[in-house]
Amino acid sequence: MDSAVDAPQMSLLPMTRKTPRLKGSYRLNDFLIQRTLGTGSFGRVHLARSKHNLRFYAIKVLNKERIVRMKQVEHTNNEMKMLESVQHPFIINLWGSFQDCGNLYMVMDFVPGGELFTLLRRSNRFPDPVAKFYAAEVALALNYLHQLDIVYRDLKPENILLNSDGHIKIADFGFAKHCATTTWTLCGTPDYLAPEIVSQSRYNKSVDWYALGVLIFEMLSGLPPYHQAEPNHLALYEKIMQGPRFIRWPAAFNENATDLILKLMEPDPSRRYGNMHHGAGDVFAHPWFREVDWERLSKREITAPYLPRITGDGDASAFDNYPEDNVAATYGLAQPDLYGTAFPDFEYTNPTLL
Ligand code: AMP
Repeated sequence: MDSAVDAPQMSLLPMTRKTPRLKGSYRLNDFLIQRTLGTGSFGRVHLARSKHNLRFYAIKVLNKERIVRMKQVEHTNNEMKMLESVQHPFIINLWGSFQDCGNLYMVMDFVPGGELFTLLRRSNRFPDPVAKFYAAEVALALNYLHQLDIVYRDLKPENILLNSDGHIKIADFGFAKHCATTTWTLCGTPDYLAPEIVSQSRYNKSVDWYALGVLIFEMLSGLPPYHQAEPNHLALYEKIMQGPRFIRWPAAFNENATDLILKLMEPDPSRRYGNMHHGAGDVFAHPWFREVDWERLSKREITAPYLPRITGDGDASAFDNYPEDNVAATYGLAQPDLYGTAFPDFEYTNPTLL
């Protein structure tokens, strides 16, 4: 085994849970809803501007009826609760949440640099030091979540946003949940699923370390390890179950990177890096990360490899354009509220003020 160190060295990281803010302090009428930044299955994320302090925010708007229809009530409640309870330099900040008759709203910091996914596709692949920088910041964020007994479950380049200073912010806590021991729900993104999720066994937080292995591979090679031109989930799941020895490695792959990826994508969770006696310490101490100064990295003192081109506050040019379909005009409309009780932690705002 490599020179492992104990995870407690990471006590230098901020381990604070956020003090929950007073609820109900936001309502739709506080914001001017602007363009769409991204879409999901149950709604979309908008750029929004506060009418009070004129700052820009990102507001995730989720349609309650669609969430109920797609049986995602628990995941959505988890998303809000998990985001509300975390505070970390590499994780998106949630300012508050509320609901009206039709929708749920989550008010977050606007992260202007766009998705790591976009940067990666534009670059084809990242040079070794660039991939290492992003992977190291992700590792710190995962370790923080795991120390709070939160499993993230949806690591992928689409969910890693870049701040104006080039540092990462992990977004989309739609599959995150409190998990002190094990859980079993089949969720995540196919290419990033650990074998124990695919086989529908009970699993623990180490599925996030597996996904970090996939992410490092994708950053260095441009595509996830079992990528197929024609998506075929059954064939993909077979490959995941066969394990990483069947990965076809690009010729110029860094030896240490290969070793770490194999240790993270280890099919047996009890032997997987991040999930053994030394916990995340094994990951931090791996030779691929040898030159990383974890303390300075955790304080965002290491200069990021890429600075997003941002022309000013509220510049959302790093995000793709989406058809708006005048959807914002439908927010806050009076309508029968069939699902209000399903989302008890999203405060109701005074409908007369909407
Ligand atoms: P989500 O449903 O949370 O995955 O969000 C969908 C997309 O919206 C993300 O992939 C981002 O492109 C964008 N997005 C989400 N949150 C933010 C944010 N706080 N700032 C900027 N863009 C965001």
